[in-house]
Amino acid sequence: MQVYCETCQRFLADRLVESTCPTLDCNYDSARGDQCEKCGKLLNPTELKDLRCKVCQSTPQIRDTDHLFRELPLLKDKLEEYINNMSIAGCWSQNAIQATYAWIKEGVRSRCITRDLKWGVPVPHEKYKDKVFYVWFDAPIGYVSITACYTPEWEKWWKNPENVDLYQFMGKDNVSFHTVMFPSTLIGTGENWTLMKSISVTKYLNYEASTRYSLAV
Ligand SMILES: [Zn+2]
Ligand SMILES: [Zn+2]
Repeated sequence: MQVYCETCQRFLADRLVESTCPTLDCNYDSARGDQCEKCGKLLNPTELKDLRCKVCQSTPQIRDTDHLFRELPLLKDKLEEYINNMSIAGCWSQNAIQATYAWIKEGVRSRCITRDLKWGVPVPHEKYKDKVFYVWFDAPIGYVSITACYTPEWEKWWKNPENVDLYQFMGKDNVSFHTVMFPSTLIGTGENWTLMKSISVTKYLNYEASTRYSLAV
């Protein structure tokens, strides 16, 4: 199920859904669809009352829609083992470690990897062909596919963890996609992938005074 706004004629991303926080003693009236920013509780937008569309302020509907999920709870032990070991072996920076453990502490939940949007990479499955992948599910796969475009011997790099150390560089807002999300995609396949060893994290690069710029390689 997903929140749909008739007026805006679209499914709403979590950050575009507002509601009253259901937590006793909180009652914050502008809680986001996925989290109350006042008390910190994680929320599920389809279970909330007093829903509002943040764009037009009208009351959205809950519509049935099928999505694909990455079952992170099933990968929790392997994921935590990877993070605990590699953060030490790869000398992760403090800001990378902090961002990663803050994410784990919030609770390892299933994450939806598809969206009812037109722009994006279409899901290659008959049942889901009108949907696209969530950008942070498919973008890191590009690291591998770009190598595969370059050489048919791409597995020498990407399926060779005994002999390859993978270093990645990025802005701090992209950390959990590389320390939690993409490793869980690779671990979930059950194959012998080269997982990121070291991560170098910068703060934001500001250009033109106020525009924030961040990217990952
Ligand atoms: Zn709250
Ligand atoms: Zn709306």
